[in-house]
Amino acid sequence: EYVWLKDKIISRHDAYVHFDDRGYYFGDGIYEVIRVYDGLPFLFDEHFERFLRSAKELDMPLPYSITTLKENIRHLLQKNDIKNGYVYIQMTRGEQIRDHLYSRDIIPVITAFTKEAEIPVTKQTNGISLLATEDIRWLRCDIKTINLLGNVMAKRRAEDYYCDEALQHRGDIVTEGSSSNIFIVKKGVIYTHPANHYILNGITRQHVFNLAQEEKIPIFEEAFSLEETINADEIFVTSTTLEIMPVINIKGSIETSLQPGTITRKLQQAFKEHTHAG
Ligand code: PMP
Repeated sequence: EYVWLKDKIISRHDAYVHFDDRGYYFGDGIYEVIRVYDGLPFLFDEHFERFLRSAKELDMPLPYSITTLKENIRHLLQKNDIKNGYVYIQMTRGEQIRDHLYSRDIIPVITAFTKEAEIPVTKQTNGISLLATEDIRWLRCDIKTINLLGNVMAKRRAEDYYCDEALQHRGDIVTEGSSSNIFIVKKGVIYTHPANHYILNGITRQHVFNLAQEEKIPIFEEAFSLEETINADEIFVTSTTLEIMPVINIKGSIETSLQPGTITRKLQQAFKEHTHAG
């Protein structure tokens, strides 16, 4: 198995990062996870647009052009012969003796690995459970940083309550999952939190807007409350690895049970037709 470290593709066995990497000290870095269907990266440009945006927001220069990054990722996927799975790419600010003040002269460190992964078909059919828990994260959740402690705590808590994913809320307002976006359906209309600093603007989330438009299902970026979540006709979450996932149970701050709905099913079907594996 090969990984990408700095400017080389090497054996995973030989891949070590530097002691003074700022990613290690401060979580000072960004990442992307890109789905691969039939050997082809899905929504590749969209992921790199977001990567570029995260880099800009954190004042990190890119050591290579997007074209070079994409070429290297393609090369790594080929070397590892990935058919269906994903690629993880990360960029930390670089190596520097521990100091809150980052230097602008250090070179960012890029690493990437690939993994074969099945589409979670059984869960997509049956649905998943969420643990509703307070969103304790910082106020720049729109940046895809590797500094993920709030998300990590929420995910562990969800699992400890036998739930598949977290539903995070700031007070009464539902924001997003620990690594997914959350949607509700009420009277044939889809709602999801606006893409502002409270959530990560998921690539799958953006794709759902296209699918809904194609299917002529009204969809709005409008924040919804815990109570509106209890009263929803359908709930689903989206992410690169989960795709479109119905929610059938919520525990924690709110409790509710429901069935995968017709709009969720329609979107799942439309999603399938768009992927290369379709
Ligand atoms: N929100 C958060 C906090 C996430 O970590 C992720 C997945 N990385 C998402 C939403 C979903 O984003 P995407 O559809 O781009 O995978």
